[in-house]
Amino acid sequence: MQIIDGKETARKIKEEIGAEVESIVTTGLRRPHLAAVLVGHDGGSETYVAYKIKDCGEVGFRSSLIRFEDDVAQDTLFEKIDELNRDPELDGFIVQLPLPDHINEQTVIESIDPSKDVDGFHPVNVGRTVIGLPSFVSATPYGIVELIKRYRIETEGKHCVIVGRSNIVGRPLSILMSQKSVNATVTVAHSRTRDLEELCATADILVAALGSPGFVKAHMVKEGAVVIDVGTTRVPSSETKSGFRLMGDVLFDEVAPKCSFITPVPGGVGPMTRVALLSNTLKAARKNIRY
Ligand code: NAP
Repeated sequence: MQIIDGKETARKIKEEIGAEVESIVTTGLRRPHLAAVLVGHDGGSETYVAYKIKDCGEVGFRSSLIRFEDDVAQDTLFEKIDELNRDPELDGFIVQLPLPDHINEQTVIESIDPSKDVDGFHPVNVGRTVIGLPSFVSATPYGIVELIKRYRIETEGKHCVIVGRSNIVGRPLSILMSQKSVNATVTVAHSRTRDLEELCATADILVAALGSPGFVKAHMVKEGAVVIDVGTTRVPSSETKSGFRLMGDVLFDEVAPKCSFITPVPGGVGPMTRVALLSNTLKAARKNIRY
């Protein structure tokens, strides 16, 4: 059994991105520039945005943080998005979700210019991904496929079962895993799937992305399977200062001995999700995708 080290892989990718940034700057071009729009003071969102800004600094990107109070008028937010769409000094930007209830998230996503949509949530990017055109792919699916590639995990003809069909994880991952470059045979399971335990036990590659801590147990995993644990739920813990720890959707201790490869939580998919935004921003700066 081999543990897939997402932290170390993310560190290597950051190093590669940092080296590319330096070569861009050496040729006289400006540094890649990412902006984050943060509405309100939600603790989780504050933390995620702070990480994103820190990550930018580590690879040599320029970054900007644009803040609004949580009672910001929808029109004010749209005006800012318009301005960012037209700013030639900015390569990409994200609007941190969730947004307050009076703001329509889908309309916000669709108001971002697809060529600056480094979160990969705009329907144009999702559609391009579906038909295999160059696109910004959303962070978590990108991170998972990158881990699979870098660990040279065999995917051709393998049965990949993905538990979870959300628009940010399960569904886009199912598209990537079935593409010709990966060639897995994909089953997407969800809360209405019948005989889920038996289905999971048929997987060569099992991806747990449902947000139910410890859901996947040893009897649901085939001997030699690859297990990717996306779940991150905060559960009470007496062993940490904060009184909480992150728990995945897989019961790691009993599942790991059956696996050929497994991602831990934390330190598996999470760090790769963070690095995906940097990779998309570099792509945006290089104008690698023609819309
Ligand atoms: P989500 O939007 O809540 O979607 C959960 C999916 O799981 C839904 O499709 C749901 O089915 C399915 N599901 C829930 N309970 C189930 C059950 N008992 N049996 C079968 N399917 C079930 O969640 P998400 O945003 O995709 O996130 C999933 C987990 O990944 C969460 O723990 C989240 O924190 C974590 N996450 C981690 C990262 C990372 O970087 N590591 C990134 C994103 C998310 P229905 O569609 O039928 O409701």
